[in-house]
Amino acid sequence: MTEAGTASERSPHRVPRVGVAVPAAGSGRRLGGSRKPFIELSGEPILLHALRPFLADARVVAVVVALGAEDAADPPSWLTELDVRVRVVAGGASRAESVGLALAVLPDDVTVIAVHDAARPLVTEDVVRACIDLASTGVGAVAGCPAVDTMKAVDTDAYIVSTPDRSTLWHAQTPQVFPADMLRRAYEQEGVSATDDAALVERAGGRVRMVDGGPSNIKVTRPGDLALAEAILRARKSP
Ligand code: C5P
Repeated sequence: MTEAGTASERSPHRVPRVGVAVPAAGSGRRLGGSRKPFIELSGEPILLHALRPFLADARVVAVVVALGAEDAADPPSWLTELDVRVRVVAGGASRAESVGLALAVLPDDVTVIAVHDAARPLVTEDVVRACIDLASTGVGAVAGCPAVDTMKAVDTDAYIVSTPDRSTLWHAQTPQVFPADMLRRAYEQEGVSATDDAALVERAGGRVRMVDGGPSNIKVTRPGDLALAEAILRARKSP
């Protein structure tokens, strides 16, 4: 770090300029190979649900969605016409590669960067706001929820190796939000071998804190998850 400190530390009280990277280039294999971001949930594509809470936050100045190469070459009009802040890029072979490609086209002057999986359509405006608020103070913020089941570490044959203390374990979700220079440095130093962004920041020495994202911020991965997501949305709408 330079003597003047990082951009986020120099101006901790300024309104952050937030960039959002949205990896949406997965194959959707576990959902039967369908293009997951475009699957409808309550009559709207999953990706649209995932983007809305970010677009509702006035601090968000740019959103880059990484789509599969074919879709990036011919993106749907509901996405290109959604909001002037939204851009599309072609994603990569892994989630981390897709995030890296999105980071490369986010404007240089964003001070905070949020990464959010297109596959998490139930994220709320409150969780987005809380993560951005925390990241604006200079530490990383990861949405998640405390483990409620006892967790087992196993070997490749599913034999239990240990039973970690549950009280120290959380499930990690997205959004994962960081001071921009912290995330960019982590991607430069640590490459792209991780299943989430916080892991790269942790390895690079950054401080990251969990923010309660609630158990309903689920990732739509397997076919049954769509019905679950529909039920959660219905429950939220009912008085
Ligand atoms: O595969 P996983 O469930 O970890 O995917 C999480 C998110 O990463 C999904 O939104 C998916 O579309 C995205 N992804 C991507 N590029 C890949 C693989 C996954 O953008 N090559």
